[in-house]
Amino acid sequence: MSHVFGRGTGALPTAVRGDGCYLYDADGRAYLDGSGGAAVSCLGHSDPEVRAAIHAQLDKVAFAHTGFFTSEPAEALADLLVNQAPEGIDKVYLLSGGSEAVEAAIKLARQYFLEIGEPGRHRLIARRQSYHGNTLGALAAGGNAWRREKYAPLLVETSHIAPCFEYRERRDNESPEAYGQRAANELEAEIERLGPETVMAFIAEPVVGATAGAVPAVPGYFKRIREICDRYGVLLILDEVMCGIGRTGSFFACEQDGIAPDIVTVAKGLGAGYMPIGAMLCSGAIHDAIAQGSGSFQHGHTYHAHPLSAAAGHAVVQAILGRSLVDRVQRQGETLNGTLCDAFGQHANVGDIRGRGLFRGVELVEDRETKRPFDPARKLHAKVKSAAMKEGLIVYPAGGTVNGRDGDHILIAPPFIIEDAQIDELVAKLGRALETTLAQ
Ligand code: PMP
Repeated sequence: MSHVFGRGTGALPTAVRGDGCYLYDADGRAYLDGSGGAAVSCLGHSDPEVRAAIHAQLDKVAFAHTGFFTSEPAEALADLLVNQAPEGIDKVYLLSGGSEAVEAAIKLARQYFLEIGEPGRHRLIARRQSYHGNTLGALAAGGNAWRREKYAPLLVETSHIAPCFEYRERRDNESPEAYGQRAANELEAEIERLGPETVMAFIAEPVVGATAGAVPAVPGYFKRIREICDRYGVLLILDEVMCGIGRTGSFFACEQDGIAPDIVTVAKGLGAGYMPIGAMLCSGAIHDAIAQGSGSFQHGHTYHAHPLSAAAGHAVVQAILGRSLVDRVQRQGETLNGTLCDAFGQHANVGDIRGRGLFRGVELVEDRETKRPFDPARKLHAKVKSAAMKEGLIVYPAGGTVNGRDGDHILIAPPFIIEDAQIDELVAKLGRALETTLAQ
């Protein structure tokens, strides 16, 4: 009997080896990692440069508490990230994962308003279809009803406005642009309702991952969001934990929306699975307000900016930049999208195929015409996951809540190094897993 307190109740295969886009279990079975776990393993599973960088740092110094020291890899990684970051983003706060990065972002926003003499600003606005992490602050920010339900009494009140979800929410007679303005204007209405002097920040994923299956906003949506935030002095926090670090075909996903946030979080692809790491990046203006005010951000964790994690993150970012992997994500993303559309574009139970770069979602519906989702009691997404595992494929299906109803989607986010033949293998295995599941 396993003593590991895992995620599920069923027995899981034991992963013993990783090589490129494949994981191998103790029985020698190969699994094509079609989702990089949960959009994590962007370089595949055996990158020699990242492994060497971790070993080299381990041989120098494994840990030096950030209350006393900075470290070479932390400095080098922060430099690299700031070089790639949207305009105005100037400081990097290194953490151990995505939830920690979101927690830090929320607390930083609050402290900023205290420093600039606006202590009334404490409210956060987020979107209904979102996931920002599982710690209590990040969970409160997220809009995923299922994940929040059990812990509701512990969560601080957060406003949730509509997501920008064209497939589900654009009206038939509405242009994408008009829909984007309508969706974004919900933020303005909510700020007005709460009282602008009480609102500190709006948080959103540029491309929604875990709760919706790779849903980008329509053109113009985030520009209007930026305008509204500026008008009311509300900070814009973008959560790029899943969609950042090249995943969508630009280093930061928001580049494609033509805007810069005040605070941005990244994680998964930053460590590429080699070490736990996340980062919260903020504007020089926020940093300086605190530096010139009370002096320091009142936050911190023991493993903040851990040198081994920073060494891994630095090697990952260097690999992405040095090997032109963001361009590759664009190319392979088009191939993946084309292959998915060829295979499932006319499928009776596929309502939508969407996403950007190597971040794609397939939405399953019972009825294509009416977009009616499957009965959530069928737990279709969980069944697709196990059928795919039997085929030797890892994908990341989930059931999200769409306008109060559940919908099933499959998130596909393979390593950036995926080859054309492996894209064919991924889609063929997924097709077989889908057919097995739908026949049940
Ligand atoms: N934000 C987003 C957008 C995420 O997708 C996730 C993880 N799925 C998190 C935050 C939380 O990250 P972690 O699991 O590393 O704490």
